[in-house]
Amino acid sequence: MRAFLNELSNLFFPNCCPVCGTGLLPSEEGVCLQCLHTLPKTNNFTEPDNFAETLLAGRFPFERAATFCAYSKQGVLQPLIYQLKYNNKKEIGILLGKLFGKDLLGSEFIKPIEFIVPVPLHPKKQKQRGYNQAETIADGLSETTSIPVSSGNLVRSIFNPTQTKRTKTQRWENVKGIFDVLHPAMYADKHILLVDDIITTGSTLEACAYALLKSPGIKISIATLGEVF
Ligand SMILES: [Zn+2]
Repeated sequence: MRAFLNELSNLFFPNCCPVCGTGLLPSEEGVCLQCLHTLPKTNNFTEPDNFAETLLAGRFPFERAATFCAYSKQGVLQPLIYQLKYNNKKEIGILLGKLFGKDLLGSEFIKPIEFIVPVPLHPKKQKQRGYNQAETIADGLSETTSIPVSSGNLVRSIFNPTQTKRTKTQRWENVKGIFDVLHPAMYADKHILLVDDIITTGSTLEACAYALLKSPGIKISIATLGEVF
């Protein structure tokens, strides 16, 4: 139904770039090329102790963490993430994931990764949205790096309210223990890349890691499209 309504709205309102509002060419997927070129990339996957690594340091054991772009309320990434999460534009997640994967390709960051694991949504939320936005990013990353996506093993077992208006401590209380790994043996001695749309406080990633560490010998790296600072 949602897909049908989207088709219908595209029929009456031509597909526009959510950043600058110009009409999209048939070859452009969800965002115009000009805006894509202005994305504030961090290129921090080569940078030890970058923003994400500093934020997560000491909270759980991880190998590396990297982000694709800076995220701010007025920035180019904000309307793209908004469209991805709330307006059924999953092609934006796939596209940005592909571009991120292209940058990571051949790097020491991506070489050891064996599985790409998206942060899961609760099944109820995923049904409402029609897809998991983190999984679209994982799919894009997989397309350019050829590393398989593993979804369905890390699961969200508790439906929690939205994170937006919570303090850091409240957020941690809100997500602690809500993730689980169904088959820990699958990730034993594997190096996985945990993927999400944005890193804010890192509490969701921390809660995922808490569940993932049930797998003996697991190594965790982190990749998100945006970093909020
Ligand atoms: Zn544009």
